[in-house]
Amino acid sequence: MIYTILDCYTDEPAGLGVPPYLGTYPRYIAGALLLEKHEVFYITIDDLRYWHYYKNKKRENPQKTDIRTYNLTKNVENIGKILEKTDVLVVNIGVQVPGKYLSAVPGTLKEISPAIRDLGCKKILTGPAALGGTQLEGGKRAEHVPDYFDDVIFDFMHTNNFKNSDKYAIAGTEILKQIPWEVMAEIETMKGCIRKSGCSFCTEPIKNLFQSRDQKPIVEEMKALYKHGARHFRLGKQTCMYTYKNYKTAELKKLFEGIKKNVPRLKTLHIDNANPSFVNGPYGKEMTKIIVEHCTPGNVAAFGVETFDESIVKQNNLNTTPEQTYNAVKIINEIGGKRGPNGMHYFLPGLNLIFGLKGESKKTGEENYYWLKKILDDGLLLRRINIRQVAIYEGTAMAETGLKYYRKNKKYYWKWRDQIRRNIDMPMLKRIVPEGTVMKKVRMEVHDGNHTFGRQFGTYPLIVGINDRLPLLKEYNIMVTKHMLRSVTGEVLNQ
Ligand code: SF4
Repeated sequence: MIYTILDCYTDEPAGLGVPPYLGTYPRYIAGALLLEKHEVFYITIDDLRYWHYYKNKKRENPQKTDIRTYNLTKNVENIGKILEKTDVLVVNIGVQVPGKYLSAVPGTLKEISPAIRDLGCKKILTGPAALGGTQLEGGKRAEHVPDYFDDVIFDFMHTNNFKNSDKYAIAGTEILKQIPWEVMAEIETMKGCIRKSGCSFCTEPIKNLFQSRDQKPIVEEMKALYKHGARHFRLGKQTCMYTYKNYKTAELKKLFEGIKKNVPRLKTLHIDNANPSFVNGPYGKEMTKIIVEHCTPGNVAAFGVETFDESIVKQNNLNTTPEQTYNAVKIINEIGGKRGPNGMHYFLPGLNLIFGLKGESKKTGEENYYWLKKILDDGLLLRRINIRQVAIYEGTAMAETGLKYYRKNKKYYWKWRDQIRRNIDMPMLKRIVPEGTVMKKVRMEVHDGNHTFGRQFGTYPLIVGINDRLPLLKEYNIMVTKHMLRSVTGEVLNQ
């Protein structure tokens, strides 16, 4: 049979699949189907837009790069023909931690409907949207799932246990043959969350039981991805890197040593989530040393702090107290806070905050600011602070609370956010990359007027703007000349 995987991209608490990051869902599904000897096409939402909305004509906009059709696969000129002969269309979709993306726009259920509703093939909805829903904007409920799907299955092809997905992961690396851009491959090390009952807003505990993947299949998959051209890896499909194999230092070491030995020439190796209470726990320091020793510089541990207001921590069953977070920030700074050869520090913490959680009050904004200011005043570094407004997904505790607190406190959000951006982010950024810092291998991605924006490959790379129109997809060494609220401006050192 002919299967087509339509990747509308995914962004979850544990897992990123928005280009250039290539998620695990399309790879595993493709692998399972290929092992069953089906023919598999991989297409993106960008391909679908190009075919259905743009009628196979690239929009000529000399001023601004069109990021809605930026990530076209090698199949782009044949989308109509591919869909016509497709027996089963598998739609992978699900944004559950909405963000801003430099060179991609994830697809929505509303957007794809006119293009796929009337296709003659069987249609299956999978990915995070099939369990918990999808929503690109904070302060809203998940999108309604249209009724033209024949099936809505989160665990399509039974990839939800490592016994299966380890086999599929290797076979699925074949889809790289259909992808022309340089990917950062998302690597799964764990499923689910070590906490028995999860945080109020989070979809991870409802999707998976907690389990860790063995070192060998992780390394084998990375080797196979490398063979197909992948050079950048993000151990991002996990809820907390420190809880790998139940928070065991020797197991974490074995994993990173295995990667180093078997994929020695990779260019980027970063992680994603870390729970501050484990960083601050008995093995935290030793594990941080292992991560710093084996990963490439520019690495960031994303702390899902969500709030520094202790009453909100309790009411939402969150994973860390303000003191634990503060100490974890300190530990990572002490061990990872040295600048590496690419111009960025080896390993720094990043914080995630959410506005609109249950019990939120005016005091929440004050508590958040107090702790962030303390971190700044104590000379510590935070690579970035992500601030989101809560989005409500089915099956979470927040689905009961809904948008009550979001509506009540919305009037404060602009002020809270602005205060953090100006008084914390800006001085922090100046401390992280002072004027004159040289950032190596910044890859230019988009044009906007006479400016070009790019970033290094990494887990949360810093956006760099250049006051010139440079050729895209080329790498430059950049000297930082100016700081914006969350990005920097620089000058090119090599042409
Ligand atoms: S600690 Fe909380 S936010 Fe993190 S994965 Fe577990 S439930 Fe989700």
